[in-house]
Amino acid sequence: MSMSQSSPKQGILLPDFAPRAQVLVPYPLARAYDYRIPEGMSLGLGDYVSVPWGKKEVVGVVWALAGDEELDPARLKTVQKKYDVAPMGEVQRHFVEWVARYTMSDMGAVLKMALSAPDALQPPKRARVSEPPCQIAAVLDNTLTFSKSQQQAADALKQIVDDKKYSAVLLDGVTGSGKTEVYFEAVAEALRQGRQALVLLPEISLSAQFLERFERRFGVLPALWHSEVTPAQRRNVWAGVASGKTRVVVGAHSALFLPYADLGLVVVDEEHEASYKQEDGVLYHARDMAIVRAHLGGIPIVLASATPSLETLHNVKQGKYHYLHLSARHAGAKMPEVSVIDLRAKAPARGQFLSPLLQKALRETFAAKEQSLLFLNRRGYAPLTLCRICGYRFQCPSCAAWLVEHRKHTRLQCHHCGHSQPMPKHCPECQAEGSLAACGPGVERIQEEVQNLLPDARTLILASDVTASPKMINEAVRQIEDHEVDVIVGTQMIAKGHHFPSLTCVGVVDADLGLAGGDLRAGERTFQLLHQVSGRAGRGEKPGRVYIQTFMPEQTVIQALADNDRDSFLDVEAKEREKSSMPPYGRLAALILSGADEMKLDQFCRALAQKAPRFDDIRILGPAPAPIAFLRDKHRRRFLVKAGKSVAIQKFLTDWLATVKVPSSIQLKIDIDPQSFF
Ligand code: ADP
Ligand code: ZN
Repeated sequence: MSMSQSSPKQGILLPDFAPRAQVLVPYPLARAYDYRIPEGMSLGLGDYVSVPWGKKEVVGVVWALAGDEELDPARLKTVQKKYDVAPMGEVQRHFVEWVARYTMSDMGAVLKMALSAPDALQPPKRARVSEPPCQIAAVLDNTLTFSKSQQQAADALKQIVDDKKYSAVLLDGVTGSGKTEVYFEAVAEALRQGRQALVLLPEISLSAQFLERFERRFGVLPALWHSEVTPAQRRNVWAGVASGKTRVVVGAHSALFLPYADLGLVVVDEEHEASYKQEDGVLYHARDMAIVRAHLGGIPIVLASATPSLETLHNVKQGKYHYLHLSARHAGAKMPEVSVIDLRAKAPARGQFLSPLLQKALRETFAAKEQSLLFLNRRGYAPLTLCRICGYRFQCPSCAAWLVEHRKHTRLQCHHCGHSQPMPKHCPECQAEGSLAACGPGVERIQEEVQNLLPDARTLILASDVTASPKMINEAVRQIEDHEVDVIVGTQMIAKGHHFPSLTCVGVVDADLGLAGGDLRAGERTFQLLHQVSGRAGRGEKPGRVYIQTFMPEQTVIQALADNDRDSFLDVEAKEREKSSMPPYGRLAALILSGADEMKLDQFCRALAQKAPRFDDIRILGPAPAPIAFLRDKHRRRFLVKAGKSVAIQKFLTDWLATVKVPSSIQLKIDIDPQSFF
């Protein structure tokens, strides 16, 4: 400690060194700022405090105890208040720092995710305080009779939880093999130790079905954490988690940042899911950060999937993750039989999208009083509307994208920015009437085709715009379970987790859809998605059939689906990635630049490209127009940085970006380990 030279100008006698703390506030700031600790207040690391920030008072967290002694104490603002709750633990503070460093985000922006229920800090206003959710006094015994491979996996997980140290396990098993029931045993073990558990799920899988099963196993519902949870519930969960009373949290992404008093286990279900990548704000991958969280906390983590990501399998191969495999479906339910329909040879009738073979299967399934599912990953009625006379195409005024017809609402919508306009009666260009034609199918159009084919069948659409809330999803799932629906037409929403015993026929309307566009993971994602969709068929006693319509039946991914041969497909994929040094064999980072002024944007991108430091094991691709080169009235350019696995890509980017000043009219986003390339 240096006896400071600064003597206050006003001549008031202040101690040379006023006790101070560095407080991090939840704003996009790179670091914590100094505050004076008032007399009589004693602060520790991680304490939640209230500090002046501009004209406001905000909640922050004590990040360091000694401040910058050079700072004139007279200019310091004072901590206003210390909250009477358990401080943010060291692990969690390190986690915030780690995520910020890795994603190159501001620490304050990451802290914001950890302070997602600021109300929870206030003392309860009313006497009627609701109890923290998911309190578990005693762990019930498992009532299921496990198969041998289930029991082995459950025992192995229990052992890992008992070891009470960091280790990562991949639980690999086909849909319906009992992964959920098996990892519940790991959760039970963590609870027996008196610790907490976190189960991360893609938001969409947080279904009533899952919750019912949880309740059956543990006797209570888990604490829920996702975008639809009300502020009052948030507050309650946050406080329950911080006090340690809430024992299990089931949630999306951001549940990682809750202030667990004693977290003993993390489970990431459907670990391959692309939606684990947070695509706005802090761009982080929840699966990867869950690994970091487990590592920092010295606790085990279980990744579960029927179609593990190449990244995770690579880690298994390298011996970084343990591997557990559930080979069979529970109770001998068979994997469905897959037929590939070559659309070049067996084309649907004009104006239709279901080939005769698939139509026949739908008729037979309906006649047998079983259910069918048609999968098409496209919302609305038709992805493109054009004028048959003059060729005019409806485009979004703010994006480089076609407008999608939603016939139910007689509107045209942009699926990128939300722009919506009524469907006109005549062509805006040539004024011709009745000349507008829908091109291509969306789920609404497929539903129409089914209704024409099977007028007596009851149909239902499952898509994020139609079944928007969890409540609506649950109602739809109930209708399917109770067989109030014969044919379901769904987007990727339907692919996840649900278990429908009477569903025996699955048709993939357009298997090629996800393969266009040249995304690094297009093949992998298509396989995962279509495999999951196929897995919906025949989960009960009756065997299932799957029909895959494609123009490219010779593609490896289609062949792999037909042969139900995941592993050879993954081998081929992995080899290709290795050859091109793509993840998981190399590292990627993307820079996305956007601005309203296209010329200025290109100018800046060129300047940035010129400043790029050169290294042997780093390649910079771009600048190139982004696949969606115009979005929400902004032009977009991308750089892709490709580096060797051992390169500290963040440092490289920091050094590079330090050479330029980004004009305020241009927005720069850094995406480490990008998952989407739009
Ligand atoms: P996954 O998570 O691998 O898709 P689940 O855990 O969801 O598989 O299991 C599929 C279905 O089979 C669920 O309804 C589950 O309750 C049931 N199930 C799994 N294992 C058993 C078992 N040993 N005894 C009874 N039912 C089981
Ligand atoms: Zn738009």
